[in-house]
Amino acid sequence: MRNVRNDFPILKKVHNGHQIVYFDNAATTQKPLQVIHAIVELLEYHNGNPHRGAHILSVEAGTLYDEARLAVQRFIHAPSVDEIIFVRNTTEALNLIARSYGETHLQKGDKIVIPISEHHSNLVTWQRVCAETGAELVYMYLDEAGHFTPEDLEKIDEHTKIVAFAAVSNVYGMKRPVKELVAKAHAVGAVAVVDGAQSTPHMKTDVQDMDCDFYVFSGHKMCGSAGTGVLYGKKALLEDMEPFLLGGDMIEYVAEQQTTYNVLPYKFEAGSQNVEGAVALKAAIEYLEDLGMEEIERHEHVLTARCLTGMQKIPHIHLIGSTDASEKTGVISFTIDGVHPHDAATILDSFGIAVRSGHHCAQPLGAHLGIEASNRASFYIYNTEEEVDYFLEKLPLVRKQMGYKD
Ligand code: PMP
Repeated sequence: MRNVRNDFPILKKVHNGHQIVYFDNAATTQKPLQVIHAIVELLEYHNGNPHRGAHILSVEAGTLYDEARLAVQRFIHAPSVDEIIFVRNTTEALNLIARSYGETHLQKGDKIVIPISEHHSNLVTWQRVCAETGAELVYMYLDEAGHFTPEDLEKIDEHTKIVAFAAVSNVYGMKRPVKELVAKAHAVGAVAVVDGAQSTPHMKTDVQDMDCDFYVFSGHKMCGSAGTGVLYGKKALLEDMEPFLLGGDMIEYVAEQQTTYNVLPYKFEAGSQNVEGAVALKAAIEYLEDLGMEEIERHEHVLTARCLTGMQKIPHIHLIGSTDASEKTGVISFTIDGVHPHDAATILDSFGIAVRSGHHCAQPLGAHLGIEASNRASFYIYNTEEEVDYFLEKLPLVRKQMGYKD
């Protein structure tokens, strides 16, 4: 993959005398000039409220918004552009599915099956569906490395109506057997909801090949701007669902006492839309396509393998989940004996290294593993082997700075 570092001005930032090493990409990624310029160009020359007026600026903003939707359709290989709904983020997309599908299609006796490692947005949402409908939330607990076990898969049975899971876990970083899980869901008549927040930025996405019913992701984790997310859903399901939010643009005709709704995708896009975000997402998609998703995956694999090998040689470091880089994206969660993850992140920050600390929005997994909090290093296209080596050099100093002798 070509060196992209010059495209990202923020990587030149110096903190505490060190050039910043940004390893918090699973939280959000940095933005290349191509994306920054696309937003500026929209705001300088084409800004208007799309689909709202006959004037040139509304028309231009509308065209750019529509083009962004087409770019998303191409990027995830959706059959129809009508199946691409713009939302604020993965969280909103999952809430939409939970409210507009889950709460209306489930009842007592039904099951929702999810892995214990899910992000809160793909977990709390289902808790409420269960509270509202009387359905049961059932967990697949995974083995120590984070793989599904045969007992996990047996939980997907004839009572199951929804199987929801991340294509890549934000804690384990493991690539899930998406096609197998979707097929398992379909075999019992359940719908499959795939959270692509941590997979879409890092590998090729093909919703038709996965055959999932819903697929969701966030723009800000793939070089786009905050406040943009995507919900893909199979047309027949979306057409059958009630809108999540009500208001302008999502209507066909409003009378005093009742309303008919707009067609897809507008039925689910109430209110003035985030055109900057959509334009940024299109620019981000074009940027990633130009690099090539396979190349991106390969680049991250090199960094992950190098980092995992190096970390395993450092005493007092404990890696969470599989240490096999071939089944992971560039997400490495770990703990350090005797050091609170927040202290570890603060010490690493003093060397200019940005890693995440906390429960990573996966508290039930933490409780299950008995690990309340951990650190997470996560890579993206602009990270280098030199940065990984710098991280490996500084990591042993964390305990030293805490006063430990070894
Ligand atoms: N799912 C996963 C797997 C995630 O990693 C995240 C973000 N950390 C989310 C969902 C939620 O994404 P957002 O905050 O953009 O809605």
